[in-house]
Amino acid sequence: MTPAASLELTLKDISTGRASGSMCSADLTEEPWVIDTTPGYGPGASTADPIPLSAPRQGEIPREYRDASAAELRERIVRAKAELGERVVVLGHHYQRVEVVEHADYIGDSFMLARAAQNHPEAEAIVFCGVHFMAETADLLSSPDQAVILPNLAAGCSMADMADIDQVEDCWEQLTEILGTEPDAAGRVPVVPVTYMNSSAAIKGFCGRNGGIVCTSSNAEVVLEWAFERGQRVLFFPDQHLGRNTALRMGIGLDAMPLWNPARPLGNNDEQTLRDSKVILWQGFCSVHKRFTPAQIEKARSAHPGVRVIVHPECPQETVAAADESGSTAYITKAIAEAAEPTVFAIGTEINLVQRLAAEHPRHTVFCLDPVVCPCSTMYLIHPGYLAWVLESLLEGTVVNRIAVDAEVAEPARLSLERMLAAKPRV
Ligand code: SF4
Repeated sequence: MTPAASLELTLKDISTGRASGSMCSADLTEEPWVIDTTPGYGPGASTADPIPLSAPRQGEIPREYRDASAAELRERIVRAKAELGERVVVLGHHYQRVEVVEHADYIGDSFMLARAAQNHPEAEAIVFCGVHFMAETADLLSSPDQAVILPNLAAGCSMADMADIDQVEDCWEQLTEILGTEPDAAGRVPVVPVTYMNSSAAIKGFCGRNGGIVCTSSNAEVVLEWAFERGQRVLFFPDQHLGRNTALRMGIGLDAMPLWNPARPLGNNDEQTLRDSKVILWQGFCSVHKRFTPAQIEKARSAHPGVRVIVHPECPQETVAAADESGSTAYITKAIAEAAEPTVFAIGTEINLVQRLAAEHPRHTVFCLDPVVCPCSTMYLIHPGYLAWVLESLLEGTVVNRIAVDAEVAEPARLSLERMLAAKPRV
């Protein structure tokens, strides 16, 4: 494989026997419009996750986009973008395939991209090549006359879907019954809700309404400090691993971090456990990062003595403990870019980003800890065919696949984001 080869080419090479390796689903070589007709998250890491009945589906796009070759689609996207000029900004998440991010004006994590969109008030449309909650966040931060477009409506996020607003409201009611709502002598309320950026606008709105806040994987510790200044304990959702890894780093013991199972009364806990808790962890996870294990790290260390192992904090606690470092996609990207000496890096995050980092830094050896080619199922649903369709529709004056957050949700959701932006590290 050449350094610039994409995940898609890797998959094709594997499926045609030209390259060795394995992948997590043979369906990965199917075109997305074939995948879109099958209920579920599609092939990739989230295949086995249950999808909510209400999850949006993508309708069929015109045949000309489905039949076009990769070269034709590329040409059409380049032409449409050039003709649209400043009228459109294309955002590409780190986990998107090369054939999509090559057209992005900005590449980054979800929050960095939403902030980038904020800096383009002249654009009438923001095309977000990422997943649903990211497009919602961009809509929250952009002006009302700008349209945020998600090229494939089926591109959700299995982790975000694990915290449903009705379940969260129900959990809050149960906690309030046990813990009350009155602040203690120090003025700290019983519980502060903290949601990871990877959650729906409805969940961000819930946090805004209930004295809570949003965090990213880069600022989770600062946000938890903010929450503990105002509350006796935190309800953290949807990702248990980010919550646990961050709280452990802050010196909070595992026995003060019960897991909340939304399908069971009291989240499958007793009242005393909840009273004694410091961080109540929602039972959600990312199926991409759940795949990384201490055994993979051990194997990497024996194959490459001196290897530098960096994993994302959405990985399980034992994987983070076995790695040399853990950090957000921004941290991983910076660590590789700034390594002075040629270094071997074993990385625990989504394969598209790892492959791109390997191509961008040929003086280092960069490989994915997981030997199986298994991308994020929903990020993978953004195919160049959809990007060409949404851009050419804009040229014709039609906005398709607009993501717009209701005003009553948007206002408190913005408040929870503003609290995050105002939170500062303790000095
Ligand atoms: S990588 Fe995980 S958290 Fe990110 S979009 Fe995919 S499923 Fe969601």
